[in-house]
Amino acid sequence: MKKSTNNLKISFLGGAGTVTGSKTLIESNGKRILVDCGLFQGLKELRNMNWAPFPIEPDTIDAIILTHAHLDHCGYLPVLIKNGYKGKIYCTEPTEELAQIILLDSAKIQEEDAERANTHNYSKHPKAKPLYTVLDVQHTMKHFSSQSFNETIVIDEEISFQLLNNGHILGSAFVDLNIADKKFIFSGDIGRTEPMLLYPAKKIKTADYIILESTYGDRIHPETDVKEELLKVVQETYDNRGILMIPSFAVERTQEIIYLLYQLAEEEKLPKMQIYLDSPMGVNATNVYNKYHELQNISNYEINRMYEDVRFVNTYEESKALVMDKSPKIIIAGSGMMEGGRILHYLNNHIDNDRNTLLFVGFQGEGTRGRAITEGTREIKFFGEYRKVRCQIRNLTSLSAHGDQSEMIEWLKHFEKAPKTIFLNHGELHQSDSLRVKIETELKWEVEIPHLNSSYIIEE
Ligand SMILES: [Zn+2]
Repeated sequence: MKKSTNNLKISFLGGAGTVTGSKTLIESNGKRILVDCGLFQGLKELRNMNWAPFPIEPDTIDAIILTHAHLDHCGYLPVLIKNGYKGKIYCTEPTEELAQIILLDSAKIQEEDAERANTHNYSKHPKAKPLYTVLDVQHTMKHFSSQSFNETIVIDEEISFQLLNNGHILGSAFVDLNIADKKFIFSGDIGRTEPMLLYPAKKIKTADYIILESTYGDRIHPETDVKEELLKVVQETYDNRGILMIPSFAVERTQEIIYLLYQLAEEEKLPKMQIYLDSPMGVNATNVYNKYHELQNISNYEINRMYEDVRFVNTYEESKALVMDKSPKIIIAGSGMMEGGRILHYLNNHIDNDRNTLLFVGFQGEGTRGRAITEGTREIKFFGEYRKVRCQIRNLTSLSAHGDQSEMIEWLKHFEKAPKTIFLNHGELHQSDSLRVKIETELKWEVEIPHLNSSYIIEE
């Protein structure tokens, strides 16, 4: 018997009108499934939303499905667990391992921030509290239930789903959710048409509804040879006898940069500069990459070789000594947008020397130090002081883990017929809107751009 779908409803509780805080709720016949559970990041106004009460009681959610391990897709999980969520968190195996690394780091930062605020007493609250702690993350990890790609996971008689490779970061997946006889495809963050390390995203042919990210919905990535661009910056820094500082995201981007440097070294183009990975999170994430050779589209030989010439900096003492050292070298350190991490210590020592280079290799979110510098600010504040930016600034803009407008349109063209609606989330309004116009013009599909906390009743 065909069940009524009158109760089928989709709500956008995050990642709507912004690229952070992804949370989409699907409800049907009293069941609630949450796809992604991300943290709001960046501007204070957004971060404050992490402290607002969740729109529904967490213990009324039946299952959570994660597309991938980035904080803007999983970073709110410990709050939901703390507030009563009792169910499973479904994702792929690498996503579970990477999410643990990312959540622990997030908890540590929040604990440290709260402690600092209380010591210096600059919090407006009487006593600053972390949003969640390392202990909360440990409780959260018990809810994880990792699954293989392409397997059907049955939640109940009318809800099942599959996780399909989407080529964004290791373990990342589309969620192909069947609920009340309707098929929803959640893109998560969709990778490039030809990812550097991973297999390209799976082409999907049918869907009743698509929920598509639009981070780069208004952009076409430049068609430059990123390896040559990187080589130019390394050579320039080498010629200046300077230090090349690369703030990098621990997951995917760090491994990509190392892969590019490895290729350049194999081609005997790379000047002799020692490469250091000074990022505990980067080292941990790289260990996960080393475990899942079969999910990477490069040879085992390359995976084994590419990290051989990189020195992994583990202890704080080692890092401290390296920070003080002024000899030429390549440093890859977190965090990717310079909101914290060991990169700040390198900046503290080397930002005022024009021999050195600061190289951006990833998306810089609104409100971050990285965004300020890439937009031309030449004075930034860290460790409580304003500092002049005198080192060289370079930006590899073509490196991205997100498909651009044309890549997303290409991927959509594999659908054999139009979905009933395609929702565009995970984008700032100008990004989503630009993609909307393109989809309406090229594919003639029905497009919706949901506002934060908006709901849609799905009808027959
Ligand atoms: Zn992502």
